[in-house]
Amino acid sequence: MKCKGVIRQLCDYLDGELDPALAEELEKHLEHCEDCHLVVDTTRKTIEIYCNTEPLPLPADVRGRLERALADRLRES
Ligand SMILES: [Zn+2]
Repeated sequence: MKCKGVIRQLCDYLDGELDPALAEELEKHLEHCEDCHLVVDTTRKTIEIYCNTEPLPLPADVRGRLERALADRLRES
């Protein structure tokens, strides 16, 4: 799996909805890719903070903005 694949699967992964085989692939990538590790870690914390204050899942617009920001970041590097 490449960095872009990680970003694409990130939301499902953090929601625990990702296919177990894909999740395993994603985790393997994280072991050797510091960039993605950081992105996943930051995103997970953001979602946890959000979920602790709101009873609803991350709204679509927040998700969209987050995904766009991450995609931009990957394009730059
Ligand atoms: Zn990566």
